[in-house]
Amino acid sequence: MSSAPSPMELALALAEDAAAQGEAPVGAVIVEGQTVLAAERNRMRALADPTAHAEMLAIRTALAARGTGRLDGCDLYVTLEPCAMCAGAIAHTRLRRIYFAAEDIKAGAVENGIRLFDQPTCHHRPEVIGGLSAGRAEAMLTAFFRSLRD
Ligand SMILES: [Zn+2]
Repeated sequence: MSSAPSPMELALALAEDAAAQGEAPVGAVIVEGQTVLAAERNRMRALADPTAHAEMLAIRTALAARGTGRLDGCDLYVTLEPCAMCAGAIAHTRLRRIYFAAEDIKAGAVENGIRLFDQPTCHHRPEVIGGLSAGRAEAMLTAFFRSLRD
């Protein structure tokens, strides 16, 4: 047994860190085999950039680490179902597999909304595994958005 946290554990810890900084709690980790290429969290507020989703930042970091312009053979772990922008970036960079935790009924684009990977115009469809640690990710999101309303 390895003592290293699983990629989803790492993503959840990053999401927790995002919430502590006033960002919506989403974390994303990209691995190639056992190697973590990128571990990022939402930074929309900090960077004043609405495209600074955890997945986008992780994709850019992983691309820089690899230098091939592609992430084929790499897997993404993210605590929330990717939105349309991130799903597009996932398809363009040819990530192999996506593991996500909580479903996003309002803004998700994988199993909700436009279901980007199921569209005939989408030329790369990663393998998708949803629901990993979903309860913990949902609880974190619920607590965060409740705190905004209080
Ligand atoms: Zn996104």
